[in-house]
Amino acid sequence: MSLEIVQVPVLSDNYVYLAHDAASGETAVIDPAVAEPVLEAAAARGWTITQILNTHWHPDHVGGNAAIVAATGAKVTGPKDEVARIPGIDRPVGEGDTVSIGASRGRVIGVAAHTAGHIAYAFEADGVLFPGDTLFAMGCGRLFEGTPADMFAALGKLMALPDATQVYCAHEYTQSNARFAVTVEPDNADLAARVASVNARRAQSLPTVPFTIGEERATNPFVRAASAAELGARRAAKDSFR
Ligand code: ZN
Ligand code: FE
Repeated sequence: MSLEIVQVPVLSDNYVYLAHDAASGETAVIDPAVAEPVLEAAAARGWTITQILNTHWHPDHVGGNAAIVAATGAKVTGPKDEVARIPGIDRPVGEGDTVSIGASRGRVIGVAAHTAGHIAYAFEADGVLFPGDTLFAMGCGRLFEGTPADMFAALGKLMALPDATQVYCAHEYTQSNARFAVTVEPDNADLAARVASVNARRAQSLPTVPFTIGEERATNPFVRAASAAELGARRAAKDSFR
């Protein structure tokens, strides 16, 4: 793969990503919640951020836009249905549009549900997906602006990607999701094994992201819901799960 990806943990549980193409020297940042640690992570590698890719308007995904643009002149790409709420947006995109980081091509996938204009970026030749707050390890985003049917459709699009696709989601929510997932599928052996491995990683303060589409197919109760209604019931149960 040609994209080199760096994970930058910020705030309490956000992940910001740098995606660097060595051949062109381009560096994109995906969902910069904040600017400083992201600029530092790029500078430490001798990289200059040339573009920002936003998945949705929430402040913990766009909060660093203005300062990164001011520091680097980076161009901002974001969801066309949320332009008014994406600071500094230069290029609004939607389902079927393409973004480029050097020679790497990313397909924009419309996944409105968590927010009404949410998009994901799939760099299929690189085997990489940036789903923002739509798909998490063993979980999915809350339905702030969409319906269970919207999320069912969104997850269906993401699960059409190959099993080996590496998923770089925007939060470390894995352990909380795992505790809920085992209540939905107590007899799922793949899930039990994954929970054990996730707990071991977190005990060492290691990230559980990225993970693969194949792992989600086997263990994510939202992806595995048979209908929008079943997904909706699980989402509502998770919202009040402690
Ligand atoms: Zn969000
Ligand atoms: Fe978020």
